[in-house]
Amino acid sequence: MRDSFGRRERPRRLGRRLLLWTILVGVVVGGGWILWAGTGGPSARLLAPIDVVGRTTPLEVSLSAGRAGLASFEMMARRPDGTLVLLAEEQIPETGLLGSGVTERTATLELDAKALGLPEGPGEIEVYATDHAPTAFLRPREPLLRIPFRVDLTPPKVRVLGGQHWITRGGSDLVVYEVEPDTVSSGVEVGKSVFPGQRPQSLPEHIRVALYTVPHDAPDGMTPRVTALDAAGNRRVVAFPVEVRAKTFPAEEIRVGDSFIDGTVRPLLEAHDKEVPADPVEAFLAVNRVMRRASERRIRELTAESMPRLALTGAFRQQPGTKVGSRFAERRSYLYGDQVVDHQDHLGYDLASVKQTPILAAQDGTVIAVEDLGIYGNVVLIDHGLGLASLYAHLSSTEVSQGDLVEAGQTVGRSGETGLASGDHLHFSILIRGRHVDPIEWWDPRWVRLHIEEPLAEAGLTGSATADAGSGPVQ
Ligand SMILES: [Zn+2]
Repeated sequence: MRDSFGRRERPRRLGRRLLLWTILVGVVVGGGWILWAGTGGPSARLLAPIDVVGRTTPLEVSLSAGRAGLASFEMMARRPDGTLVLLAEEQIPETGLLGSGVTERTATLELDAKALGLPEGPGEIEVYATDHAPTAFLRPREPLLRIPFRVDLTPPKVRVLGGQHWITRGGSDLVVYEVEPDTVSSGVEVGKSVFPGQRPQSLPEHIRVALYTVPHDAPDGMTPRVTALDAAGNRRVVAFPVEVRAKTFPAEEIRVGDSFIDGTVRPLLEAHDKEVPADPVEAFLAVNRVMRRASERRIRELTAESMPRLALTGAFRQQPGTKVGSRFAERRSYLYGDQVVDHQDHLGYDLASVKQTPILAAQDGTVIAVEDLGIYGNVVLIDHGLGLASLYAHLSSTEVSQGDLVEAGQTVGRSGETGLASGDHLHFSILIRGRHVDPIEWWDPRWVRLHIEEPLAEAGLTGSATADAGSGPVQ
């Protein structure tokens, strides 16, 4: 009886124990899995604040989840009528038993309110995400993040002040214009170049002043325009009355001999740790083309920042007692033997007098660089504000330091023949935002008065305008 009872009971008891153990193991494994995966659910974070949405507004959202990883995410924009527009979605499948393992994901997109059919006015972006955690099904579908925004599809207004403008190829001009408060950047656009407008400290908030040039080698039909960009990425381009005057530049032939290549070109390459080609023409081109380009890039870098006021006391002073050796934008053909080996434009004035003559600052300003600058040798570069700078090259020695305030007529160094020079002379350049312009205009008091001082005085920028400015038209 006992035996037979025991024989019947044992399997039942065993089965119950097995069941209990299975449940226990199940609870431990399941609980462990839940604890391992985390119960908090995914979270979302906006990486850069957005305020207005326009035609090209970047949106960057960082999503994170526990160890089981993200399963999906969705970003929607809510229109004022309550309807939703899908901006982005992604399914992230499981890669094993325990989920996707994707614990971090950054969603980057560019919003175009017009293409999305979002009308101007307020709106909201909703960010949803799910994860592979075992408790995910318990969570209600609610946005993890709500991002309020305002749609702005209207380009900022721009009003150009003053009348007719004239600019000569390779020359300079100044434009004064008004912008709206939400304008984040503006300037004069000439082809692909933009010459930024700045607000001189003394002028009202909405006034901008931009100096610009039409490059000496610009293709025909290039018309300067004023452009403004708002925080939503809306861009306005406006025409203003401007006539671009043609100008022809002289041509010049330069003979390059072995003595110049061995005495100047090769040592210049060595001094700048460049490879020195054995072939004389190759060596010359390594300087005249390659190093020249690098030098111009460096000048652009150095002149990228400029004071928000024009430090102008009349016209630029011409280096006294000098003979002009070479003018602005001379088209140079370089001859080695009877072969033309290169063409370059000479972007400044070469002024020669006695050797090691004191070189004077042409205008008040701040020294932005004193350095050995490739083909230009030892240079002093002075910022005069609003992107205007002057360059003094081939110096044998310098007498100022970066950051020094200099006055017109102050000695900045002594002439020499450092860099790509064949004899002691001053190479003088005037630059607008790092582009060489013809100094001849800036040396001319009448030109400076009509093109720079009078428009600034009309805009209310006093101080640099001469008292007898008159009221003639800008020419
Ligand atoms: Zn020169």
